[in-house]
Amino acid sequence: MLRFRFPIVIIDEDYRSENTSGLGIRALADAIQKEGFEVLGVTSYGDLSQFAQQQSRASAFILSIDDEEFTPGPELDPAVLNLRKFIEEIRFKNADIPIYVYGETRTSQHLPNDVLRELHGFIHMFEDTPEFVARHIIREAKSYLDGLAPPFFKALMDYAQDGSYSWHCPGHSGGVAFLKSPVGQMFHQFFGENMLRADVCNAVEELGQLLDHTGPVAESEKNAARIFNADHCFFVTNGTSTSNKMVWHHTVAPGDVVVVDRNCHKSILHSIIMTGAVPVFMTPTRNHYGIIGPIPESEFAPENIRKKIAKNPLLKGVDAKKVKPRIMTLTQSTYDGVLYNTETIKAKLDGWIDTLHFDEAWLPHAAFHTFYGSYHAMGKNRARPKEAMVYATQSTHKLLAGISQASQVLVQDAQNVKLDKHLFNEAYLMHTSTSPQYSIIASCDVAAAMMDAPGGPALVEESIAEALDFRRAMRKVEADYGADWWFKVWGPDKLVDEGIGKPADWMLKANQKWHGFGNLASGFNMLDPIKSTVITPGLDMSGKFAKTGIPASIVTKFLAEHGVVVEKTGLYSFFILFTIGITKGRWNTLLTALQQFKDDYDRNAPLWRIMPEFCAAHPRYERMGLRDLCQSIHEAYARGDIARLTTEVYLSDLEPAMKPSDAYAHIAHRRTERVAIDDLEGRVTTSLLTPYPPGIPLLIPGERFNKKIVDYLKFTREFNVKFPGFATDVHGLVAEKDENGKTHYYVDCVKN
Ligand SMILES: *Cc1c(COP(=O)(O)O)cnc(C)c1O
Repeated sequence: MLRFRFPIVIIDEDYRSENTSGLGIRALADAIQKEGFEVLGVTSYGDLSQFAQQQSRASAFILSIDDEEFTPGPELDPAVLNLRKFIEEIRFKNADIPIYVYGETRTSQHLPNDVLRELHGFIHMFEDTPEFVARHIIREAKSYLDGLAPPFFKALMDYAQDGSYSWHCPGHSGGVAFLKSPVGQMFHQFFGENMLRADVCNAVEELGQLLDHTGPVAESEKNAARIFNADHCFFVTNGTSTSNKMVWHHTVAPGDVVVVDRNCHKSILHSIIMTGAVPVFMTPTRNHYGIIGPIPESEFAPENIRKKIAKNPLLKGVDAKKVKPRIMTLTQSTYDGVLYNTETIKAKLDGWIDTLHFDEAWLPHAAFHTFYGSYHAMGKNRARPKEAMVYATQSTHKLLAGISQASQVLVQDAQNVKLDKHLFNEAYLMHTSTSPQYSIIASCDVAAAMMDAPGGPALVEESIAEALDFRRAMRKVEADYGADWWFKVWGPDKLVDEGIGKPADWMLKANQKWHGFGNLASGFNMLDPIKSTVITPGLDMSGKFAKTGIPASIVTKFLAEHGVVVEKTGLYSFFILFTIGITKGRWNTLLTALQQFKDDYDRNAPLWRIMPEFCAAHPRYERMGLRDLCQSIHEAYARGDIARLTTEVYLSDLEPAMKPSDAYAHIAHRRTERVAIDDLEGRVTTSLLTPYPPGIPLLIPGERFNKKIVDYLKFTREFNVKFPGFATDVHGLVAEKDENGKTHYYVDCVKN
């Protein structure tokens, strides 16, 4: 067995005392240590809830119940009350860890039933030898630890441990190859032996096969399906980008009509290109902060989708009434945390579209808290659609404890239709490497196991609680500053004073000012509080620029130099995530860094002093003050009316000139032309054009450039020359330098 450090924790106020009770408990501790187990002895609970966090590091608890006070009955006994509270804290997260109570004079009669029920035993000092008691506790602790690892992770640890010599790939042979060179040694020492011993190939029988879903891998996928309320789960080791392609390739063939959120991840657009589908887009709302809102409920109505089909130039001559779209794909949780009531969508489309695909890359946590109600794809005890299969693709690595690229496809059968796993696997194989990375599989397995009740729900509850504490802390700072400026966190005006409040507090209601998305249907959307979009001053919801302003990119660069890296930066907003890994320390650091920013801004502190790394890379800003820099970029944005321009380009009518796959074929056949920005209007792109921020594709292969998009690109070009270091990055733009060193920008288009 691998040696893990999971000490047995003893809490006894006499642990260090020279009285009989101290001698007794220390004798027990010694006996445990002699059996090879670590002991951690402390004399008080300290901060109860902080201490209960030890549950993830311990293998058992021994809690002493003796104190000197005389008390009449168990219900009033402060020692018992303390004990009960502590046990509740542990059980909130951990149903299985063994807990023992250790008493000198008291017996189990002194304990109420709800406490007794949680115990693995009651130890009476001096009744048995310490050695006997120690062995008993260790047996329970071991059995607890043995039960922790889910199937695949367990098998992988066993294999790595067992020390057999392998002749199969990978060529580094459990890491040995690395030891033969100095830089290899460095690599080996950095990542450690286990990572390399566990890096095996699929020739190892006893681990099962990811590609065939057999053995321990299959057991783990089954376990994850149960945990995430799905009928089937497929672990994916190449991210949700790949999960999405699998779902699509299983269902969509050339020429099929598909219904897609225009605010979708590029992997969906790649899927459209790969499958040769004809997309019909549902357009989300936007506000002028650049925050993408929900697609209005009406866009999901079949009659409205049919109207779009009828209008689509690529579907000329097709009888819209006879079209049955193959799939509907929705980004379920936008970047900024907007969620849809999936029951409404299922009800509208069931019986017409047979595959409902929710891209829940950002939402794997929702299944573990009642807070999210039906605002995610698959929940416990929810009715299934009659004909429509429901798919959810989730990046376990984004919000849960998966390592990069850990992802999963969840499938829920319809009442009348079941998934044919063999057929699904044909698509799965098309996108999976024949040499999957086993530590990613193990992390899919562990990320799922961690979410099992009660641990998972407790973790999600904590993330929501931290996110709300952060929001309250930000408001408190704002209140303290009074009329002075401060950052705002985007969200409903009302915030509960304490705790996590009710889901109703987070619903987007029609025409509320805070969201700016207009007349939304009631009960259709909510905001996920764990996504916190921080708004910087300078732009209001109507797209009007204030006299002064603070572009978000400067704030996030400042934060980065202070060790705080945020998830995404917009024009006047950036967002941070309260994943299950976030701690109080983290968000408090962010808050103090923001305060520091404010001080430096108000004093117009010189950039060379406060952002030395940035100035080293871009010396032209060295002599500027922070406020001056903010102001000059702010004015450039205002002159370009960039907020309105960005909103409009995304909402502008985009005309498809050909199928995305046909446009893409021009690349394969080298029938493209590199067209300068000034000449783009009317041309048909062969590349995806994606500006960062916001990272949402603006134009997809086969669509024509309109004037608005060209204007946007011209603005970007000028801006980027003026403000190096703050350049808007547009994927799909090709930059080429001419002989004078001047950069020109092009987009690859269909050759005329
Ligand atoms: C990140 C993301 C993906 C892709 O996930 P990866 O795990 O990074 O491949 C897909 N869809 C959405 C909405 C995403 O945000």
